[in-house]
Amino acid sequence: MSGEFVPLLYLVSGVLFILALRGLSSPETSRQGNYMGMAGMAIAVVTTLAVARPETGLSWAMIVGGIAVGGGIGAVIARRIPMTAMPELVAAFHSLVGMAAVLVAAAAFYAPEAFGIGAPGVIRVASLVEMSLGAAIGAITFTGSVIAFAKLSGRMSGAPIMLPARHIINIALAIGLVTCVVLFCQEQTPVYFWAIVALSLLLGVLIIIPIGGATMPVVISMLNSYSGWAAAGIGFTLGNTALIVTGALVGSSGAILSYIMCKGMNRSFISVILGGFGGETAGPAAGGEQKPVKLGSAEDAAFLMKNASRVIIVPGYGMAVAQAQHALREMAEGLKEAGVEVKYAIHPVAGRMPGHMNVLLAEANVPYDEVFELEDINSEFPQTDVVYIIGANDVVNPAAEDDPSSPIYGMPVLQVWKAGTVLFNKRSLATGYAGIDNPVFYRDNTMMVLGDAKKMTEEIAKSL
Ligand code: NDP
Repeated sequence: MSGEFVPLLYLVSGVLFILALRGLSSPETSRQGNYMGMAGMAIAVVTTLAVARPETGLSWAMIVGGIAVGGGIGAVIARRIPMTAMPELVAAFHSLVGMAAVLVAAAAFYAPEAFGIGAPGVIRVASLVEMSLGAAIGAITFTGSVIAFAKLSGRMSGAPIMLPARHIINIALAIGLVTCVVLFCQEQTPVYFWAIVALSLLLGVLIIIPIGGATMPVVISMLNSYSGWAAAGIGFTLGNTALIVTGALVGSSGAILSYIMCKGMNRSFISVILGGFGGETAGPAAGGEQKPVKLGSAEDAAFLMKNASRVIIVPGYGMAVAQAQHALREMAEGLKEAGVEVKYAIHPVAGRMPGHMNVLLAEANVPYDEVFELEDINSEFPQTDVVYIIGANDVVNPAAEDDPSSPIYGMPVLQVWKAGTVLFNKRSLATGYAGIDNPVFYRDNTMMVLGDAKKMTEEIAKSL
């Protein structure tokens, strides 16, 4: 391929990535956005291979073989993974991006001629700075993502781990890191390179362990942003414009998403970036004293909803676990046929990843115009006859508004308790992700309809 077309093709792929981000911002256009992103990535990869392959001395067979093995493993994992385990898969993938950044920086340091950045011991200072940044951000992303994966997959406790004097330790590590970068740029010796990597690996662990379950969505998106910046760092080392552009897009869009989520959950953005600065308290264990609750059956729920004029459905993590979205749409169809107005209320962090509920409802062909975000529907609960909560818990917990000692205090919640009647479907009175009791269970206008979300919703639909 003639070299003069390369910048043009990279520009085309950059534009396609921007259009992909735009498409992904709404459920209606997200499929199209995905196709744009795939096309942009295909152009970027083929262009890079066409330009760089002759210099590497690798045969097409080796390259295609490598892509087939890596792509094959990715495809099998993506097919097998349940939707509920998506956040931990994303965390695991981010860790690989981080590790790749460290390995590319190490390769550039040990074989600078291959990267056109000088010779061993006489590498350009600008390249040394890029290398240090790529290695440091990559190593922080690697261990941070491994801890996020362990927390999300239940391999370690999701509760915040608060080391005494952790701020002082973090500040000392950050000062040590900057010192090592300066010394590395002056001396160019392996000991400083690996000291940067070791300190950053430790910093990655210490930044993520104090962050508790309820803030995890922000962490995932923050690590997404870090992995983008690490990729941009590698782009500078490799002199690859497409990688710089893609890394910067991922880095900045991840940072913007984290900021929006922090605002939505009333968490401080700075505190999350710096690792639980000003942190959170662990949630009190629920369930000590027994309080009375009103129990109801599927028939009771069907009777109440059929006789209502307006019903709002609030889905949460339990709907995803039970895969109840299709049964839910059938139930809603039955209600609409009976002349009831049905709307769905989506909390920004319902489920276990941003957009989790929107994806499931779209999969069940729920019309987009019946699905409303928190800020658009919260004022409608007082005029609503019945709310059907299906497998949600933390996102409808009034402790976020009333109890300053609660770990979710300040997070906006769906004000379901303001509706005429609350039908609360879950399997027991157990707590949700944040591990805290929910006062809505015990209110006079609440009826608990206990049971698996799919089975219960199917029974309600049958009874309508
Ligand atoms: P929660 O985790 O608060 O509650 C889910 C409820 O579903 C549980 O209390 C459980 O109760 C019930 N449940 C589980 N399985 C079933 C089933 N088969 N049938 C019926 N009910 C079931 O979920 P929410 O969606 O309300 O809140 C999300 C939480 O996750 C928030 O705290 C959020 O901060 C956090 N989080 C969100 C992420 C995101 O990006 N969306 C990422 C990481 C964390 P029981 O056992 O009694 O059935």
